Amino acid sequence: HKEYLLIPGPTPIADEVYEALGQETMGHTDPRFTKIYKHAIDLTKELFNTDAEAYVISGSGTLAMEMAIVNTVSKGDRILVVSHGYFGDRFIPLAQAFGIEVDVLQAEWGTQVSLELIQQQLKAHTYKAVTVTHVDTSTGVVANIEQLIPIVKAANALFILDGVCATAALEENMGKGYGSEEAKIDIVLSGSQKAIGVPPGLAIIAFSEEALAARQDLDTVPAYYADINNWRNVMDNPSNYFATPPVNLIYAYECAMKIVLQEGMEARIKRHENYGAAIRRALNAFGMTPLAKEAVAAPTLSCILYPEGINDVEFRAKLAERGIIVAGALAHLAGKAFRIGHMGSVTATVLEHAICQIGEVLEDMGHKVTIGAALKAFRQVLTVEV
Ligand code: PMP
Repeated sequence: HKEYLLIPGPTPIADEVYEALGQETMGHTDPRFTKIYKHAIDLTKELFNTDAEAYVISGSGTLAMEMAIVNTVSKGDRILVVSHGYFGDRFIPLAQAFGIEVDVLQAEWGTQVSLELIQQQLKAHTYKAVTVTHVDTSTGVVANIEQLIPIVKAANALFILDGVCATAALEENMGKGYGSEEAKIDIVLSGSQKAIGVPPGLAIIAFSEEALAARQDLDTVPAYYADINNWRNVMDNPSNYFATPPVNLIYAYECAMKIVLQEGMEARIKRHENYGAAIRRALNAFGMTPLAKEAVAAPTLSCILYPEGINDVEFRAKLAERGIIVAGALAHLAGKAFRIGHMGSVTATVLEHAICQIGEVLEDMGHKVTIGAALKAFRQVLTVEV
């Protein structure tokens, strides 16, 4: 690797995935390709533990967000957006673009929206759907879906989960009842470029039977490319044509999904939780503070506040010279924090390397740190894969 891409997506790509991506492009209805595509869709259903429907098409996570909304909610309906940051907020203009009424509960950045507030809101109004961002990539806050799902389902709303920065790293089990047998996730939407470890370019979305029934209730929807009814025949049998699929990305995605399921979700969930906790502890030893408290901090990425006197642009440029790419913070945190991804095919060795480089850059910028102490903190927390 020339560089380690430790931004919160896209993430590092495994060599096998690059190899798959680089295979000769086949025709999109070639039976050899349609078999791979079908397998990719089946693996997606396996990942989300659903027998209902999954769609994997050209697009980014935002298209998948749009597909979730447009296929279940119509003009004049009301939704509740539970937002833990920039990407939670994205559902507001998105839904409003379709004439949907939106209520929002926004957390202070770095914290979760209180369950009581959500419960109150669900009592006061009727909602067609509630959107929850599993991990908000702007704040590194994870949503408490175990508690949110039963509350939302008790209010007869669809539970729409944005898994763009969580899928394949956190549990998103559509077959599981939360609290009761009926309280299940209705939609998980995602993208290829984060914990799945595929280059950007795929919109991924799975619908429960209840979500599919909501689509059928709508009759027509204000979309064409994003209308799942136009894709159903392709997902059932990819030799059917609707719009040309990204053949090479599907090769890569099938390969990455095999890697994901081979490791197994149980192991992946543990690994990501452990990496998150360990890297935050290490960076804390450098005098850097995670924006989110540990109890609500995400396994996939962290938003880290700089110590006094560290210039953001200079810090990230110096790190980049050393082959470590991290991201700036968004909105009001720009310049005050950086974001580091620790998901997908990242290993503990890569993270240790990043910690050393961050320590050396801090020293270089005149900030006194002890790299050994940070590494020790990392290894003390690390329980998986040394
Ligand atoms: N939701 C979340 C949680 C995200 O992190 C992102 C992308 N960073 C999106 C949605 C939008 O996805 P995309 O940029 O692939 O359209």
